[in-house]
Amino acid sequence: MVRRILSVVLGVCLCWSLWAYQGRSQASGSVAEGRGGAVATADAQATQIGIDVLRQGGNAIDAAVASAAALGVVEPFYGGIGGGGFMVIYLKDSDRVITLDSREQAPASAQVDMFQDPDSPTGAVLPFFPNRISSGVAVGVPGTLLGWDEALRRYGTLSLAEALEPAIALAEAGFVVDETFAGQVAQNQARFAAFTSTQALFLPGGALPAVGSRLKNPDLAKTYRLVAEQGVNAFYRGDIGAAIVQTVQHPPTVARPPFRVIPGGLTLADLDRYDVRVRPPTVTNYRGYTLYGMGLPSSGGITSGEVFSILAGFDLGQSNSGPADLANRAEAWHRVIEAERLAFADRNAYLGDPEYVDVPLPGLQSADFIQTRRALIGDRAPDPVQDFRAAPGNPLPYQRDPSPSLTRLPPVAQSPGQSGTSTTHLVTSDRRGNVVSYTFTIESIGGSGIVVPGYGFLLNNELTDFDPTSPHPNAPEPGKRPRSSMAPTIARSPSGDMLAFGSPGGSTIITTVAGIAVNLIDFGLTLPEAIAAPRISQRNGGTTQVDSSLEQTALGQALIALGHDLEPVPEIGAAVGLISRPDGSITAAAEPIRRGGGTAMVVER
Ligand code: GLU
Repeated sequence: MVRRILSVVLGVCLCWSLWAYQGRSQASGSVAEGRGGAVATADAQATQIGIDVLRQGGNAIDAAVASAAALGVVEPFYGGIGGGGFMVIYLKDSDRVITLDSREQAPASAQVDMFQDPDSPTGAVLPFFPNRISSGVAVGVPGTLLGWDEALRRYGTLSLAEALEPAIALAEAGFVVDETFAGQVAQNQARFAAFTSTQALFLPGGALPAVGSRLKNPDLAKTYRLVAEQGVNAFYRGDIGAAIVQTVQHPPTVARPPFRVIPGGLTLADLDRYDVRVRPPTVTNYRGYTLYGMGLPSSGGITSGEVFSILAGFDLGQSNSGPADLANRAEAWHRVIEAERLAFADRNAYLGDPEYVDVPLPGLQSADFIQTRRALIGDRAPDPVQDFRAAPGNPLPYQRDPSPSLTRLPPVAQSPGQSGTSTTHLVTSDRRGNVVSYTFTIESIGGSGIVVPGYGFLLNNELTDFDPTSPHPNAPEPGKRPRSSMAPTIARSPSGDMLAFGSPGGSTIITTVAGIAVNLIDFGLTLPEAIAAPRISQRNGGTTQVDSSLEQTALGQALIALGHDLEPVPEIGAAVGLISRPDGSITAAAEPIRRGGGTAMVVER
């Protein structure tokens, strides 16, 4: 009864806020200070929906799910029920952090050679673009919807039906196409046009959606409503599931698609078998902060944790005199870059789904192993021709595991992997002090590019996160989850503040999260400054990627002088974050510019 009343109140309030929001011409700000709870997402309407949930008495978990469902409507190329994700939750009452793994998983039909070209006499791997990324074979069993359900059942106060209500209204009312959205359709036009269902939704009449036009998605509203009425079984065991299977096995291509579309073997049994995993977080101590991250099958928490552990042996804060002093920080950033290089070497060699591979984590995380890695960092970047790519370390001598199962290292090639730049991150907090940090995705921008006909959502292409050649800990196997880079993070400061932050950006997620933490903890930037700051990303490659604005700065030039080969790229990491303090005050911050900027709001200003 209480739920029903809450639901009606919520419905009325949310319809009002949708109407009210649409009357506003500009998104609200990227920074909000106040009390009573906060939400920061990539989109103003999604943020507003989370805030409304909080105002009606919902908690941070309710707000996260309601905002995520709204993002599935207004940011359909970044994440949605056709994909997967990782949620890190701080529960104030029990003072603990848990994580929910709703990562996509390979169907039972997956094979180690699933990405080999069926027509290649030499067994060559299918080209990443477009054949692997726009295919049925790349579609993993989606976990997002079950993740939302599990989060609400365990830690929320709303039902899934209640949490979906505002997103249903949003899908029906539609949203105004902005330049970022229109640009993403333009970038993907060729592959979206290859599928009848995708063309119908995102290329109305065969044309790009006009900036300023309204895009409605009644099919997605119908899908959410089916789930609201029938529960997740509609998706994992019912009509929606049957449509997913049909779509993967027989992609709805136009009569003559411009490239070969490889079908997949996902079945209803794969959907039926899917489960969300509740896992402990990774825990890393860094200069008095405790950082909680996402463990395997994501490499996010472990790899950022290795970066922090290596850096803990250096004093990076020696030039801690505010953002104006960036040039003096070159030496510190040089160490961050080199720590990232080494951590990615280990990530690329050892990390995979822990239910399938023995990952030598005790060794990788031992202080003595970390010391061997730290000792490799010199005063200058390695010679870019000779040895820019670091070799993985050998963690086995440092295993203190009482029941070691690894006696020799697996024979793996160094594989940086390829992953897209899709994904979205959101953070929420409530007046009780609960905090959520949630990253979810459909992998590439636009995922597989295949909309499930009649159901209004894109399927992921997450299985491209597997390493296509074996042996490798991240090789495809039936039922396995591909290694991710998603790094939703929660941190406790020495004074008891709870911070939450995260980012999209494929493997740059890890370096974005590390950079935000270093900027906050070592350099004393505020959270909004750290979120807006230029990014620096080294992932054991020849070049170090930087935001294009950085190369010409004094810091950029000083890094070049230290031997770093900087590669300017248009955009790295549209992050969001918040700080929830013991006195009840909150700062929430969203990316101000990248991807068109996000929105942060608080319940009480
Ligand atoms: N598939 C990526 C991962 O799980 C996320 C996609 C992205 O951010 O580009 O690491």
